[in-house]
Amino acid sequence: MSNKTITIAIDGYSSSGKSSMAKALAKKIGYRYIDSGAMYRAVTLYAMRNNMISPDHIVDCDALVASLPHIKIDFKVCEDGQHTILNGEDVESLIRQLDVSNNVSQVAVIPEIRHALVAMQQSFGIEKGIVMDGRDIGTTVFPNAELKIFVNASAETRAMRRHKELIEKGQQSTYEEVLANVVTRDHIDETRKESPLRKADDAILLDNSNMSIAEQDTWLINEYNKAIANNK
Ligand code: C5P
Repeated sequence: MSNKTITIAIDGYSSSGKSSMAKALAKKIGYRYIDSGAMYRAVTLYAMRNNMISPDHIVDCDALVASLPHIKIDFKVCEDGQHTILNGEDVESLIRQLDVSNNVSQVAVIPEIRHALVAMQQSFGIEKGIVMDGRDIGTTVFPNAELKIFVNASAETRAMRRHKELIEKGQQSTYEEVLANVVTRDHIDETRKESPLRKADDAILLDNSNMSIAEQDTWLINEYNKAIANNK
């Protein structure tokens, strides 16, 4: 059996480092990588641009759901990694900004939005050989994935990492703002009705609070090797 035959689902809390480890693994093993959070972020940016979200984060669900046929999301591989394309425009840096982060969880609770994005995510994975990260990949998108990982770290550790990342990208924010965003998103993601953030029963738990990036990448490749051995 070829090595290209498994599906890898990496779920976890906001800013837990799951995207970095998912990307690094996909590159190393030659799999396709899909950042499902980027898709929720792109829909959120669309809603913000079309005045479908009020300053206190109330989403005009009907208008946004009606717009779904006009929202096309693609990914493009660039020199510095994968970029998210919204209706033909590269929105990679825009969707990472704090104003999008502050609205995205309210968009991600809308069942019709989730159904549309989950269907798109499942179509990306139809041929396996994919690493996808998100919140519900192991529970809803690919419940039969051969390797499922659930990543967590303390909210403070995650906020510190995210704050550093934003500063490095030249995006202004304070640590307190980022921590508040992380805590709020955790709460909304965990308590929503439709596919809440939850560890799949058969997912392997990784708390990377005290791990370096190199250590977590090595841990993940070991888990991948075990999954491949089990899949033969
Ligand atoms: O992974 P990232 O932090 O970029 O995801 C942004 C938001 O998108 C999350 O806080 C969550 O509300 C939503 N999301 C989701 N399901 C996924 C991926 C992301 O609800 N599979």
